[in-house]
Amino acid sequence: MTRYEDTTETRQAIIDACRWMNDRGINQGTSGNISVRVPGAILITPSGVPYDRMTPDMIVRLVTEGEPDMSGDLRPSTEWRFHQYLMAARPDVSAAVHAHPAHCTAVAMQGQPIPACHYMIAAFGGNDVPITPYALFGSAELAGYVADAMRDRHGCLMASHGATVVGESLDRALWRMEELENLARVYLLSRMSGEPVLLTDAQMEEVIAAFSNYGPGK
Ligand SMILES: [Zn+2]
Repeated sequence: MTRYEDTTETRQAIIDACRWMNDRGINQGTSGNISVRVPGAILITPSGVPYDRMTPDMIVRLVTEGEPDMSGDLRPSTEWRFHQYLMAARPDVSAAVHAHPAHCTAVAMQGQPIPACHYMIAAFGGNDVPITPYALFGSAELAGYVADAMRDRHGCLMASHGATVVGESLDRALWRMEELENLARVYLLSRMSGEPVLLTDAQMEEVIAAFSNYGPGK
């Protein structure tokens, strides 16, 4: 796991990651949000600031538990709760990325997980990418659902909302978000002409075992 410090460089990496998501078409507008674990806090994108106007000093320091200070001009992302709950539930990860990518969201709008239709599902730690029940954005209920879904997975869909992934580094979380959007896209394409063939549990176990060092640096 990559350990980050609260530096201008880390804060800039979060901003760069937000802009990268928009450049790649993974996120639209300011609906996405990103957090990175640092000693004693979580760095998180501010609420409602366009990515092209975001500067390192605008990244918010979020408490690791309990209610944050909401009195300042810059408030943490409205989804701070699930970032906070995720970091508590997953001490093995250092970054979380949330967005509303079109194809992930299209599957999530049908209230369905992505099954083992492709070996890359293994990048998410199991034989599917689960979906959480619907709950109001920003709510503690939604935060609980996301943390529960990701206790044994590195990504999930959120019903009628979007997708969230975690990573042992920020690069690894971004890699997973791009892979998840691609998986959702080919899953939807495949379902247009029939039902995709699913890999068996044994086949998925084989891939997961082969996958531990796959992808960008931890
Ligand atoms: Zn959202």
